[in-house]
Amino acid sequence: MSVAVKRLEDYETEPRFEATVVTTECITAKGVEPEVRELVIDVDRPSFSYSAGQSIGVLAPGSPEFGHEHHFRLYSVADLPQTNDAGRPRITICVRRCSYIDNYSGEVYNGIASNFLCDLNAGDSLITTGPYGLPFEVPEDRDANLILIGTGTGIAPFRAFVKHLYHDVGDWKGRVTLFYGARSGLELLYMNDERDDFAQYYDEETFEAFRALSPRPNWADPIAWDMALSERGAELWEMLGDPKTHVFVAGIEKMRDELDRVFSDLAGSKEKWKRRKAELMAGARWVELLY
Ligand SMILES: Cc1cc2nc3c(=O)[nH]c(=O)nc-3n(C[C@H](O)[C@H](O)[C@H](O)COP(=O)(O)OP(=O)(O)OC[C@H]3O[C@@H](n4cnc5c(N)ncnc54)[C@H](O)[C@@H]3O)c2cc1C
Repeated sequence: MSVAVKRLEDYETEPRFEATVVTTECITAKGVEPEVRELVIDVDRPSFSYSAGQSIGVLAPGSPEFGHEHHFRLYSVADLPQTNDAGRPRITICVRRCSYIDNYSGEVYNGIASNFLCDLNAGDSLITTGPYGLPFEVPEDRDANLILIGTGTGIAPFRAFVKHLYHDVGDWKGRVTLFYGARSGLELLYMNDERDDFAQYYDEETFEAFRALSPRPNWADPIAWDMALSERGAELWEMLGDPKTHVFVAGIEKMRDELDRVFSDLAGSKEKWKRRKAELMAGARWVELLY
């Protein structure tokens, strides 16, 4: 099931907890727009249990005169929750500063919640809710293979997941293959020249990471999933047929169609892929977190 099928209005926004920004840092390379910021926040609530793949809610201030008390948005937790000195949960999220073009006026508008979050400074407060959403569950069998496919801020839950796998679970025997797509190397979060959080796992025999970049980033070409995935097509297809393989997908919604296209090619036809994907989803072996 895709988390994206749930409408924001359907989420429970109580109870609410005040949080304070501990740090805020731009994690995109210099000059890359839009920026993505990593925020570490301390939440004033008793500790809570969280699994990788879940998100927290943020209530950005609204305009009561227009009937919006607040704007509710979700953000994936990008690290394992820590606790601060007072034993309160400390959470990391990464937020892309969004803007969009209005279809009618052609004007550019800033996304409300993402700009609110990106403009916060250390010490500022905000209101949070959650956690919500389907976790990316670690299979019980340590021989299970995990294929993780993410774009943009979709890397956030995988950063937490891979850390959980190698730090908390340990002794993982199955293969862990991460595919991370972006328009250019500069847009890869946590996997670039300045900061590669995944480098600590490259020595793990079971871990592999591949970048899927657009061949012509300035032309807004789609991410070259075919190059990264198709190059390993036969191997991937074999893995998908193995009941021990689980696929987790995270990022913006349009990647669903892009991946369907690539996997249809690997399968030999759209119909064949549709059937295989339905089987995988029915067995909770294909889990999407798309927004
Ligand atoms: C389960 C879930 C997890 C999410 N996790 C994250 C996360 O970890 N980091 C994050 O930045 N956002 C995440 N989002 C998106 C986030 O909730 C907001 O939708 C986003 O910040 C835009 O809100 P806004 O109020 O700033 O803009 P709005 O005023 O709501 O609209 C801004 C425009 O930006 C587009 N847009 C929204 N999010 C993105 C994105 N990440 N990349 C490209 N275009 C986008 C929208 O389609 C819209 O056209 C998640 C959404 C869901 C449902």
